[in-house]
Amino acid sequence: PTNSVTVLGLGLMGRALAGALRRDGHATTVWNRTAAKADDLVAEGATLAASIRDAVSANTLIIACVSDYEALRDLLDPVGDLLDGRVLVNLTSGTSAEARETATWAAGHGAAYLDGAIMAVPAAIGTAEAVLLHSGPREAFDQHEPVLRSLGTTTHLGEDHGLSSLYDVAVLGLMWSILNGFLQGAALLGAAGVPASAFTELAKVSATTVAGWLPAYAEQIDQGAYPAFDSTIDTHLGAMAHLVDESEALGVSAELPAFIKALGERAVAAGRGGDGYAGLIDQFRKPSEVG
Ligand code: NDP
Repeated sequence: PTNSVTVLGLGLMGRALAGALRRDGHATTVWNRTAAKADDLVAEGATLAASIRDAVSANTLIIACVSDYEALRDLLDPVGDLLDGRVLVNLTSGTSAEARETATWAAGHGAAYLDGAIMAVPAAIGTAEAVLLHSGPREAFDQHEPVLRSLGTTTHLGEDHGLSSLYDVAVLGLMWSILNGFLQGAALLGAAGVPASAFTELAKVSATTVAGWLPAYAEQIDQGAYPAFDSTIDTHLGAMAHLVDESEALGVSAELPAFIKALGERAVAAGRGGDGYAGLIDQFRKPSEVG
């Protein structure tokens, strides 16, 4: 059947993937190293393959989601001979280099390979809120998109297999920066007796305001010119010093503030003080200066 699928790996995420596929009506064959993790899925109608060989042989479309790429290769190396003509969609998290290596390995076995990244927690799988990024051959994506879309909002980023891992870490970096900024603010306010919950509204509005700046800054980065239309890096640097001073005075960590200020100082030293904030991109485009 064209819409049947095999899921390899039934950890927290693999079980969510298999469950969503089955609920959407796709005949789902599953396999996991620890077979007992398939019990609930089997009770709901999934088929447990007796072996990894049976699991791979069962369908053209194979979705894998295990801990890391080492686990993936442990799992698939012994069944490489069965992959010819199949489509492997690997939703295991990793780096772009690992994705490209796995693509080469899969091609050596005659399989089409799509790498993927899941931007969601297991509970969101199967809803539009779950964003799944895919990269690799467009044709294989288009052919299997009717199945893949059962998992959430699916996107094809491009033919380069490394793209989904790259976007994944880019988004995680953004997420951690936002969260770290929030925690720094909560620590500062907390030192003055203000509860974090009193900060959330202003923090949310600020995050949304900053999000609105991104398109114009992205355009400047792509054009390589950073005219200050809102505020110069010199002006930012003054405020960065206030963040450091307040943190030190209140006895909270000044580590992140000091790093932010150091970035500003380096940009000013490089002659970018009169540019807008996007001029800081040069500081991110090279290896870090401090070890
Ligand atoms: P779990 O730890 O719950 O599951 C890990 C899975 O990998 C299990 O099926 C485990 O099998 C299998 N496994 C590990 N090593 C091997 C091996 N050597 N051979 C065969 N199978 C192996 O992790 P998750 O399901 O949460 O995560 C899976 C992937 O999904 C990770 O790459 C993670 O980064 C990614 N992800 C997870 C998210 C989440 O919120 N959980 C969000 C986004 C991405 P066994 O059961 O036998 O141990």
